[in-house]
Amino acid sequence: MTDNKIIDGKLIAETIKKEIAAKVADMIDHGQDAPHLAAVLVGEDGASLTYVASKEKACHCVGMISSVYRLSEKASEEEVLNTINFLNNDPEIDGFIVQLPMPKHINETKVIQSINSNKDVDGFTLSNIGLMQLGEPCFLPATPYGIMELLKRSNVEIAGKHIVVVGRSNIVGTPVSVMLSRKGIDATVTMCHSKTENLGEFTRQADILIVAMGQPEHIKADMVKEGAVVIDVGIHRIKDDSEKGYHIVGDVDYKEVYKKVSKITPVPGGVGPMTIVSLLHNTLLAAKKNR
Ligand code: NDP
Repeated sequence: MTDNKIIDGKLIAETIKKEIAAKVADMIDHGQDAPHLAAVLVGEDGASLTYVASKEKACHCVGMISSVYRLSEKASEEEVLNTINFLNNDPEIDGFIVQLPMPKHINETKVIQSINSNKDVDGFTLSNIGLMQLGEPCFLPATPYGIMELLKRSNVEIAGKHIVVVGRSNIVGTPVSVMLSRKGIDATVTMCHSKTENLGEFTRQADILIVAMGQPEHIKADMVKEGAVVIDVGIHRIKDDSEKGYHIVGDVDYKEVYKKVSKITPVPGGVGPMTIVSLLHNTLLAAKKNR
């Protein structure tokens, strides 16, 4: 039996993948090449390797071409910039991402801002951030776009609602706050951060609570309004005695908060699967825009 309280990100992501796969198949039927997403990976960070591998798998699953440009941990900034310059100019690449974090000797901002904004499917360049702010067509950052899709496809009413976002990072909290408060989406948004005093006073006012704070199970039931919708972005591996040696939790104390809310995303299986799907969506957009 399906639980209507749970916003099933895995299921929604699968539906979107099918929609994207159909569009890719249509392009191929019309004699076009499949969209091509590349990733630049510098070093051997474990989480980054896993994330890039999932992107490759997702690309193949929808019929897109995927390639990874691997550079050693010791690669110089110049080598990274040269790789980006190559991808910026290669007509066969529709869009690409640079996997973060990069080794400390590389200036991430400089690298990200050197990406051609027409291929910036992560939506991290100044041009795409500015267009997002203006509400103009652009590549929206993957996790915030994924959250918007989750809310839309779960029929959560947004206009006029009070949305409290906990976290103000450049990849989640800030862009999702901007996107939700745009004209046409029309939420009233409060953004909280680590210097917010009495966090619970704000979170308890939320009709929709979006938590991207990177603190395991920080949001407890007494911090949430009865009947609220809760979107938990956090992902944490907690060591335990199980065979796997760990289990995954979010920023929200799911078990207790679940009892109070009208809808909630689980971790894993909520926001996570939507992030990669959003990247596929942007790659399809890039292929249509750039060719
Ligand atoms: P960051 O660490 O960049 O930002 C965390 C934000 O939370 C900061 O703005 C910080 O405030 C705020 N914060 C930290 N502690 C508190 C507190 N006690 N009270 C109020 N605010 C607090 O994290 P990200 O945005 O990158 O990621 C957040 C979480 O989401 C992480 O667990 C990450 O792993 C996960 N994530 C999941 C994704 C997915 O696909 N599901 C994608 C991206 C991230 P301040 O600015 O003052 O420091």
